[in-house]
Amino acid sequence: MSTLSSNQTPLRRAGWAVTVYLIAGFAWIMFSDALAEVWFPDPKTLSMVQTWKGFFFVLTTGLVLFSVLFRQLTRDRALLALQHGQRLALRKRERQLQVLMDNLPGMAYRCRYDPQWTMLFVSRGCARLTGYEPEELIENRVTSYASLMDDEDGERIFCEVKAALANDKSFSLEYGLTRKDGSRIWVWERGRGVEEEDGTVVLEGIVLDISDRKELESELEELAIRDPLTGLFNRREMSRVLEEELERARRYQRPMALLWIDFDHFKDVNDTYGHAAGDSVLRSISRLLLGSVRSVDSIGRFGGEEFVIVLPEMGLDEARDTAERLRRKVAGAPQPLGDGKTVPLTISVGVAVYPEHAQNGAALCAAADKAMYLAKGWGRNCVAMAHLHDQVHNES
Ligand code: GH3
Ligand code: MG
Ligand code: MG
Repeated sequence: MSTLSSNQTPLRRAGWAVTVYLIAGFAWIMFSDALAEVWFPDPKTLSMVQTWKGFFFVLTTGLVLFSVLFRQLTRDRALLALQHGQRLALRKRERQLQVLMDNLPGMAYRCRYDPQWTMLFVSRGCARLTGYEPEELIENRVTSYASLMDDEDGERIFCEVKAALANDKSFSLEYGLTRKDGSRIWVWERGRGVEEEDGTVVLEGIVLDISDRKELESELEELAIRDPLTGLFNRREMSRVLEEELERARRYQRPMALLWIDFDHFKDVNDTYGHAAGDSVLRSISRLLLGSVRSVDSIGRFGGEEFVIVLPEMGLDEARDTAERLRRKVAGAPQPLGDGKTVPLTISVGVAVYPEHAQNGAALCAAADKAMYLAKGWGRNCVAMAHLHDQVHNES
């Protein structure tokens, strides 16, 4: 670059060379002729000297011209070889980059930092990821990339990118994307701001499809909160739900009920028909209970054949009625054993209500459990209220 931008232009250099040649040539002709005439007064010798002088001049200038041209041509050749090598290396790098871009699991992009995420470049993976061809997204020709994002994610993404740009850091984002065919995917994006020569900032990065990972995550989350046999909430999740609902009830000063359910003589079912048949009954009653409560209610399997139901916004009387309704429903529907046969089964239910019976989760559970044992004592297939020992609800 320095040689190109220096003030030694080809015209100047050629001008200098010719000027030096002309001065040397004229000086040689003038001085050599004058000296020859002084040194060789004999005309015959002088004529011979001048002929040899001419030869000498042509030989010398020929040698100088040869060395200059040789040097210049050697340099030109080296330069051409260098340029050729650089061009080959550049083409190789471009090819490698293209292969890399085309085989990226997602898409690489370069976009304006504007509300539309106007794409300036997207790799071919764009079609696989979004369903849109690169040309359709570039310059928002068919749609903008921003319009594929969920509306509620827009604000969050904008803030995260803004913070990353302010700190000159890269950003990582996760958000939902709607593809051209309307299907939804989850993507992970990593990018950073790059300043252009004119001072504007563009974003460059990659976007990967992480739907499989997200699905696995939600499956794992589900597994962590569900009982594998019945699909109901497990004990830990149920305890969390109970605390959450109690907190809400406390804050809004609303009632909340807890039902504690235990199957009657369930051991007999296992002993008579086998463990698998017992499992079938557990699943069937779980479905029955789940289908018999409101959508705001939560059911969990606390262990064995003990189930807990949290009933938000439910006071004493309504809770008693609900427990009674469930008890009757179970008693009235013979349970499938899985081999086409059925078995009659009943449940005993203990009911405890916040704030009447207890103020916290553990105490509410203890009260409902105790009431359930009371129902067992009364002969099973009963509903018992916590502390209301004299009340038995079994009107069937
Ligand atoms: P009670 O009326 O006094 O409750 O009598 P019960 O036979 O139901 O006694 P209890 O509640 O103490 O016994 C629970 C039985 O439930 C014991 C066990 O064999 C059975 N059980 C616990 N978990 C499972 C399970 O996952 N599958 C099956 N098939 N049976 C289970
Ligand atoms: Mg039992
Ligand atoms: Mg039990």
